[in-house]
Amino acid sequence: MLPPVRCFTCGAPLGHLWDQFKARLEAGESVGKALDELGVKRYCCRRTLYTTATYVEELALYSVYRREREAVIRRHFHGVEGS
Ligand SMILES: [Zn+2]
Repeated sequence: MLPPVRCFTCGAPLGHLWDQFKARLEAGESVGKALDELGVKRYCCRRTLYTTATYVEELALYSVYRREREAVIRRHFHGVEGS
């Protein structure tokens, strides 16, 4: 997954903000507060970072889901062996 290097709309550079933005979200900060504190004021730039964060989150959720599903499958086969 490539973080946005520039705003999709106005072309402002955003790549240098991505790591901090992501770290703030992972620390439980809200998207709005993280963007405010990083000084991202233009709506188009906020939207670019927010859209990317949402996309990254979906990918992360998907990989969690996949790990859980694999664990269920492993438990299932383990249960069959054990009976
Ligand atoms: Zn912009």
